[in-house]
Amino acid sequence: MGILFMLMFTLVPLFIAAVFVLVIGMIVVTAVKGIAEWADNNAQPVLTLPARIATKRLHVSGGGQDSTASTSYHITFETSAGGLRQEFRVSATDYSGLAEGDTGDLTHQGTRYKGFIRVRRPVAPPPIAAAPRAPAWTCGYCATFVDGAERKCPSCGATERKQPATA
Ligand SMILES: [Zn+2]
Repeated sequence: MGILFMLMFTLVPLFIAAVFVLVIGMIVVTAVKGIAEWADNNAQPVLTLPARIATKRLHVSGGGQDSTASTSYHITFETSAGGLRQEFRVSATDYSGLAEGDTGDLTHQGTRYKGFIRVRRPVAPPPIAAAPRAPAWTCGYCATFVDGAERKCPSCGATERKQPATA
């Protein structure tokens, strides 16, 4: 009986047990964190507030040779009032149905996304560019000073314009 042979039968099972404990431990920690967040969210009020979609992102995890990839969908909302940004995990349907820049009412409870209803916010109309005023002109027939909007001289009806005096 060599010492190596002895080690094989004691250390290998110990190593397997240690890995097993580690994996179980990680699963437990993740579960506890999830439960804690769930409980924390339950204690939060359900809030609906005007928001805008800032960014969207996909997160793909897994997808090795023997496992199927799972995709999670995330949207970052920006509240119009306080300028707060917060990312929520959303459903695939909401992810595909909403676009960056959409405005609406976001309902959430803590970190839990409850929904987003698109509302078109009235956007201030673009300022109407003042139409350039046609320059006033002088009637070539009766020398009446005519407003630029007029095409005919209001006094005599002539359309002929007096050429501006050249310097
Ligand atoms: Zn005239």
